[in-house]
Amino acid sequence: MANVTLTINGKEVTVPAGTTVLDAARGAGYFIPTFCHDPDIPGYGGCRMCVVEVKGARALVASCCAEVTNGMVVETESQAVNEARRTILELILANHPPDCLTCDKNGDCRLQDYAYRYDVRSSGFKGEKHNYPIDDSNPYIIRDLNKCILCGRCVRTCEQVEDRQVINFAYRGFNTKVAPAMDTNLAESACVSCARCVMVCPVGALSYSNLAGKGRTYEIRKEPVTCTFCEAGCQFDLNYKGDKVLAVTARETGTGRPLCLKGRLGLELLYSDEPVTPMLKKDDQFVEVSWPEALGMEDVLKKLGDLKKLD
Ligand code: SF4
Ligand code: SF4
Ligand code: SF4
Repeated sequence: MANVTLTINGKEVTVPAGTTVLDAARGAGYFIPTFCHDPDIPGYGGCRMCVVEVKGARALVASCCAEVTNGMVVETESQAVNEARRTILELILANHPPDCLTCDKNGDCRLQDYAYRYDVRSSGFKGEKHNYPIDDSNPYIIRDLNKCILCGRCVRTCEQVEDRQVINFAYRGFNTKVAPAMDTNLAESACVSCARCVMVCPVGALSYSNLAGKGRTYEIRKEPVTCTFCEAGCQFDLNYKGDKVLAVTARETGTGRPLCLKGRLGLELLYSDEPVTPMLKKDDQFVEVSWPEALGMEDVLKKLGDLKKLD
């Protein structure tokens, strides 16, 4: 593949043709903030946090969607770029609850990180605020849409990585929100609780029920573990607090492969030091089930039982 040479922040960079400006800049060691970008999904350009200044362009350019060209001259932290990023953050914070003190995402939240980096302490924009009820209908996932910044990462992940299309943007303008079909709660939707959307949410809008209130992000140590329930070998994280495993969560690997609930539940049975109750959906209701049923091993155990009787 042909190479392209461009200049980023005064430094000459050579990358393969077709590389995005975002990847070229990050590869050269430059920081560019993103909310909606996901390496597993084609660029989307929705949040505009990744804008950069390109010499000769009429406006700032979304670097996640723009491909490099020979001779391009890019600035990633010019005054215009940083002002644009500050304005985006102020617009988001105008309708975001000041919940950092008690938010489970505190310490691992891009909104917090970027507000700190760009010194955005409050919002100059005043207006109506959302007051959505928290959706804890799914036993594994909590949705707090008041913290949602509408980056769309969960929507595109559910559609393009999980191939499930359970959630999408609903309504318009100020009322836009992420919702399952018919704006039901997650329990009543076709969600399979893979929790991949939780993994990609850059803020505290989506979180794991089994980690809620159990520790600050800096107290929790993550260690990778490979699922052995099928040949796919998906990656998960064991979440330790001290020497105890609190939960098993999906791990961001960039493999673009769907995850399943069975793998995560099975690993929780194997590793968790907390009591874990498997719940499965039957007739549109989540009900407590036995571990063999949760792991789809009832038939295997029955056959083993039958063989034992033949002894
Ligand atoms: S989502 Fe981030 S910015 Fe919002 S309350 Fe939680 S930690 Fe704070
Ligand atoms: S848990 Fe999985 S299936 Fe359910 S909404 Fe999230 S990505 Fe889609
Ligand atoms: S729930 Fe999270 S990932 Fe989904 S749109 Fe809102 S902020 Fe983005």
